[in-house]
Amino acid sequence: MSVSAFDLFKIGIGPSSSHTVGPMIAARQFACKLRAAGLLPATATLVTELYGSLSATGRGHGTDRAIMLGLAGHQPDQIDPNAIEPALASIRETQQLRLLDIQPIAFREKEHMLFLRKSLPFHPNGMRFVALDAAGAELASAEYFSVGGGFVVDADGQRVLNETSLALPTAVELPYPFDTGADLLAQCSRHQMSIAALMLENEKQWRTLPELRRQLLAIWQTMAGAVQRGCASSGHLPGRMQVQRRAAGLYQQLQNPDKNAPLDPLAAMDWVNLYAIAVNEENAVGGRVVTAPTNGAAGVIPAVLHYQQRFVAGASEDHIIDFLLTAAAIGIIYKKNGSLSGAEVGCQGEVGVACSMAAGALAAVMGGSPAQVENAAEIGMEHNLGMTCDPISGLVQIPCIERNAMGAIKAINAARMALRGNGTHVVSLDKVIKTMMQTGADMKTKYKETSRGGLAVNIVEC
Ligand code: SF4
Repeated sequence: MSVSAFDLFKIGIGPSSSHTVGPMIAARQFACKLRAAGLLPATATLVTELYGSLSATGRGHGTDRAIMLGLAGHQPDQIDPNAIEPALASIRETQQLRLLDIQPIAFREKEHMLFLRKSLPFHPNGMRFVALDAAGAELASAEYFSVGGGFVVDADGQRVLNETSLALPTAVELPYPFDTGADLLAQCSRHQMSIAALMLENEKQWRTLPELRRQLLAIWQTMAGAVQRGCASSGHLPGRMQVQRRAAGLYQQLQNPDKNAPLDPLAAMDWVNLYAIAVNEENAVGGRVVTAPTNGAAGVIPAVLHYQQRFVAGASEDHIIDFLLTAAAIGIIYKKNGSLSGAEVGCQGEVGVACSMAAGALAAVMGGSPAQVENAAEIGMEHNLGMTCDPISGLVQIPCIERNAMGAIKAINAARMALRGNGTHVVSLDKVIKTMMQTGADMKTKYKETSRGGLAVNIVEC
């Protein structure tokens, strides 16, 4: 399977790539399957069963909302975030949903959306759709799995994509294929290329250079838009905790520093925190963000890239391209050998991977060799090993929002440490990915996006 940069970076909506974006894609896919089989006119209603982690944290992560929107034909990269609430209100009021905006069916959430605690064998994020006719007889059914980062596979393990996906097709032959960190370094050494240059040649198999630049810059613009909206929005985040949004207040503080205060050598750190918090608050309200490589971790890469553009001398548009391509190359290695799923390996697979991608990318645009980039990426993961996923109330808010800020700061430090060395180091990126997977396998289920352990059970909600 060939994985593109646009598999790692996808424009979508919050709050979760595995629990919102993936289920929306799967629900729409099932409706499209009914249409292709000529079954839409006979469909009177439809039952969705959510399993494992999708059941445990699905309500807090917006899975129920995503399923309804997907069945109605919406796509995460196309839907206007402002149209979401009216669309859901209409379904709830009328207890009717129009499949693909064509076929009206009865849809009562309590009856037609089932949250089942057990997991399906293939993956903890499983879902099953069953279409029924007017007599209640089954017309068709299908299972899908949201395997992390917005990737969806069917029961045969085949990838499910939106028709608007930028990543089609996956069976392309690439000029510089790589599966592991060792492969990537060998390709760079053999062809005397940077990681970004190598990725660029691979991506050109899917699209022209101007189109590639345009789409990468669109990813950056979407990240920047999330920062801007986050800095301009106040109030509370959704959910019973009523968490206060912080980015707007922090932005005002940073814009108006005390002129009599001594120079703060770590002022840039406050801005990095701001960028990450702004994006993740937007994610928490279901706003437009870039899955990078997940939604829960959507703030790390924008924060580090904003840091580079604002605080590193000589920053240019080319750096944005190189940063995203290098980050994507590292993400591809995780996708092929590791996991991007909090339900599978805890937050190692979300903020941990984003930190590793950002660390390597920053090292690259600050002049690092491929070996230093690989070193930075390895450091970025090494110090996130064992990180659990225990979101309070099943919401992608605490610890997720601050955790992105911490991940971004850690990524910058990892890049700086790697750039002070010559690229030689003891633990390789491939070894740390293997360790991440082993640690994830040993981690108790309650720490893997179920909200049944850790912070999630130690904070009393009002
Ligand atoms: S704790 Fe990490 S993995 Fe879990 S929901 Fe939050 S960001 Fe995602």
